[in-house]
Amino acid sequence: MNDPDCLFCKIVGGDLPSTKVLETERVLAFRDINPHAPTHVLVIPKDHYANVAELTGADPGLAAEVLAAAAGVADAEGVADSGWRLLANSGPNAGQEVSHVHFHVFGGRPLGPMLSA
Ligand code: 5GP
Ligand code: ZN
Repeated sequence: MNDPDCLFCKIVGGDLPSTKVLETERVLAFRDINPHAPTHVLVIPKDHYANVAELTGADPGLAAEVLAAAAGVADAEGVADSGWRLLANSGPNAGQEVSHVHFHVFGGRPLGPMLSA
């Protein structure tokens, strides 16, 4: 599944460049273009799903693969022991900018409180 208008589908297809961190048959992890921490990696299924609910509803096994890849990214980035955060924005109140489900992996410094006031 692929959406020709989707930024992250274009990254999956190689039509837009990215800095890959980890890749499996169905999952891709690449560095965020505007990092908020020393480690800021986006982990996505290669197939297009708009958000977490669509992904888990359609293919819970793939959702598990994405989570396992996020843990693999933390390991590869050397932040597994120091600590890391996994974040997925869904919808306007969460500030989701790209409608291709993605999990942010943050690490490499103390990450502060979970939410701003
Ligand atoms: P959201 O706000 O949807 O949770 O996060 C979208 C993320 O995608 C942002 O952190 C933003 O910096 C990142 N992003 C947007 N466009 C690109 C791009 O072309 N390449 C990469 N690597 N990241 C992008
Ligand atoms: Zn997409």
